[in-house]
Amino acid sequence: MLDYDLHCHSRVSDGTLTPTELVERAATRGVKVLALTDHDDVDGLAEAAQAAAANGIEFIKGVEISVTWRKHTVHIVGLRIDPNHPALVEGLRIIRSGRRHRAELMADSLARAGIGGVLEGALRHASNPDMIGRTHFARYLVEAGHCKDVRSVFNRYLVKGKPGFVEHVWANLQDAVSWIRAAGGIPVLAHPGRYMAGRCAMGKTSMHELLKEFVELGGLGIEVVSGSHTPPQYAEFARYAAEFGLLCSCGSDFHGPEESYRDLGRLPDFPLECRPVWTAWDEVS
Ligand code: AMP
Ligand code: MN
Ligand code: MN
Ligand code: MN
Repeated sequence: MLDYDLHCHSRVSDGTLTPTELVERAATRGVKVLALTDHDDVDGLAEAAQAAAANGIEFIKGVEISVTWRKHTVHIVGLRIDPNHPALVEGLRIIRSGRRHRAELMADSLARAGIGGVLEGALRHASNPDMIGRTHFARYLVEAGHCKDVRSVFNRYLVKGKPGFVEHVWANLQDAVSWIRAAGGIPVLAHPGRYMAGRCAMGKTSMHELLKEFVELGGLGIEVVSGSHTPPQYAEFARYAAEFGLLCSCGSDFHGPEESYRDLGRLPDFPLECRPVWTAWDEVS
């Protein structure tokens, strides 16, 4: 079992725990090295770092950047970033600034489908209103009795082709990778298995093209063991990592005790051929 968990969320984005609660839960569950990787925001890192010191675990400053690549939304995790680097700070600010307008359009779309008052409801679930996103809408729709849980909301609403979904253009891949590198961090392609599933799934050719471009732009890692992956996908993405010379990362993508596929920590081991991202900690700057 790996005692590294390099992908999770606090209330600063769409998790349900505060950074301190998250770190305490990770420590209790045996995590030795934890990265907090909130979506498009680094505001939770200082509190999490303090809690990590108090709980005797090593803390990695991270972020998960929303990117539009061709017609796909992909996520790039940055590990060991300097959260004060001006290019990163400014890039994240611009991404966040688009979220409020998107939320208004999502609420309009749901209102047309007969569900009103959703923006106000979703905002009540967003501790950080700048980071209003689909998960906050989902929690409100559960609370209001439209669906039994967050997962069912995503099946019925908020995804391509369903009420509440709004196309949005996030950062481009080149910018996201360059902000992370400028900030001294390691860019990691998050949960690639998710891009190859569902409506609008990426085929193998596109995955190859994405990885080729990612590496050319300065990308260095890929999530192999992820809360979003099945065991056959660990093997599949270990092969991609070997083919593209990428470091391998692992993370639960934990969002909250009631909602996540995987709790913090206790991740299965990497396939044997993987080179763990932490073996390169000191080579990247
Ligand atoms: P956003 O960045 O606002 O588009 O929201 C994306 C977030 O929604 C992801 O980070 C997940 O936390 C959540 N999400 C996306 N798809 C699903 C799904 N099918 N089931 C549960 N949560 C999802
Ligand atoms: Mn999320
Ligand atoms: Mn993600
Ligand atoms: Mn995530």
